[in-house]
Amino acid sequence: MKPFMLASREYKPKDTIIEINSSAKKVFLGEGYCTLIAGPCAVEGAEEYLDLARILAGLGVHILRAGVFKPRTSPYTFKGLGREGMEIVDQARLITGLPVITEILDVRDLEQLYDRVDILQVGSRNMQNFALLEELGQIKRPVMLKRGLSATIEEWLLAAEYILNGGNDQIILCERGIRTFEPYTRNTVDIGAVALLKQLSHLPIIVDPSHATGRWKMVAPVARAAIAAGADGIMVEVHQDPDKALSDGKQSLTPENFAGLRDQIIKLAELDKKII
Ligand code: PEP
Ligand code: MN
Repeated sequence: MKPFMLASREYKPKDTIIEINSSAKKVFLGEGYCTLIAGPCAVEGAEEYLDLARILAGLGVHILRAGVFKPRTSPYTFKGLGREGMEIVDQARLITGLPVITEILDVRDLEQLYDRVDILQVGSRNMQNFALLEELGQIKRPVMLKRGLSATIEEWLLAAEYILNGGNDQIILCERGIRTFEPYTRNTVDIGAVALLKQLSHLPIIVDPSHATGRWKMVAPVARAAIAAGADGIMVEVHQDPDKALSDGKQSLTPENFAGLRDQIIKLAELDKKII
């Protein structure tokens, strides 16, 4: 048996399919599906977010991204709207009927997020926050576990193991690039990890080409590569006016560019006979 026993294919040969039915629209994540997750890096205000949420719902997005507690490298930059932001997310979920994903930074926020969020995201910086992982193992909510800034695949699967070991088997892995010696891109995206994880594990894997590259012009090609390599979906940052975004504008697509990418992904999903 592998050190990440519960996450391994040997332990569970059948793919894990996650069904999200806590919001108006039922959504699936896992083998056979191609799930589109999109939204701004951070919720910046009610009007902008609700407008974008409606646009994205109209474009066939399955899950809305909604960052409200932002892990920022500098303490002097925008760290999200916090509690106030969650009220905007509540409205977006109600208006669009779409499920939402948001990052949990602190275990103390679990209570306020639990019933208002369909997927809890563990960001790269928290991949080995074992106290948080253990707590998320105790709940009945899907968790998206992003790969740590420079985590090996084994460390990443062992982090998933912490959640599985607590009894929560609703885990989605998210490849978002790792830090290498290459400074041209924000991170180095590991497409090979997608193909490997499909062999090593039964868990769904999605790719975030926005944080993986840091450059909006690279988002579409890397997203296509991810789907071609077998990813079960993508998570992309979209902003109406990327130049004015309070965080990650350089890697954000406009809704128009996102619509173009969606058309390309639909074609790839059809080729692979995936439901989109
Ligand atoms: C995010 O998706 O909002 C984020 C902060 O990404 P990462 O944890 O991959 O840096
Ligand atoms: Mn971001």
